[in-house]
Amino acid sequence: MRLTLLLLALLLPALAQDPLATTEPVAASVPPPVRVFLDAGHGAPGNSGNEDAACRDEQDVMLSLSDHVVAGLQGTGRFQVLPSRQGAERPEYDARIAAAAAFGADVFVSLHSDARGSGVAVPVDGRSCVQNPAEPGFAVLWSDEGPLAEERHDLARRVAAAMIAQGFLPYDGVDYGGLYAVDPAAPGVFVDRHRPERRIRLLRRPAMPSILIETHHAWHPDEAAAWQQAATRDRLVAALAVALGPDAAAAE
Ligand SMILES: [Zn+2]
Repeated sequence: MRLTLLLLALLLPALAQDPLATTEPVAASVPPPVRVFLDAGHGAPGNSGNEDAACRDEQDVMLSLSDHVVAGLQGTGRFQVLPSRQGAERPEYDARIAAAAAFGADVFVSLHSDARGSGVAVPVDGRSCVQNPAEPGFAVLWSDEGPLAEERHDLARRVAAAMIAQGFLPYDGVDYGGLYAVDPAAPGVFVDRHRPERRIRLLRRPAMPSILIETHHAWHPDEAAAWQQAATRDRLVAALAVALGPDAAAAE
């Protein structure tokens, strides 16, 4: 209690002098927060995703990452973020798409990890987990179907460029075969080339520009470990804050 009073005593004079604490209207040049719908991949009924190099479920890794990114982006004061799921929630994908529309999201970002190539079983803490210490890196996926194609492509390029600027390695796509085509002008950016009936709903159905970020190779032991670290997750927050920010599209 004494500490609280001391803090108040220290803060009150500062508040009184803070020009922002007056009733002046907010300057017109401050852009409204960008509304981000952040999807923690998987976590739908019967859909837990891959198991990573330490046998962690993708749905759990992405939920933990999503919690971190939501807090980080909101902490900048420039974003309003609605996560697709929290805690034990298990929404279907169609419900996520509807929730993003109801939220009035400006962008839809789905967080995932990839399981690439052929792994080998390795004992980890008494369990047998698949690992493949090759094919590292992130991939940003987008769909060129329909009228949002150009906006999705711009969004994908901005996110990939910002992730590279934060030191993340872009995946070369060697294991994607014909399923995703690499963007010759933008490392780490891939367009969906599945047969139409197999294409990813989240890439083409949301009413706002959407992308899917394969943040890393889940079977790569070093990458899987790095994405458990707050420092790695903070770098993703920094990249998204640049790529999704209110000035990002105008700055191109
Ligand atoms: Zn996934």
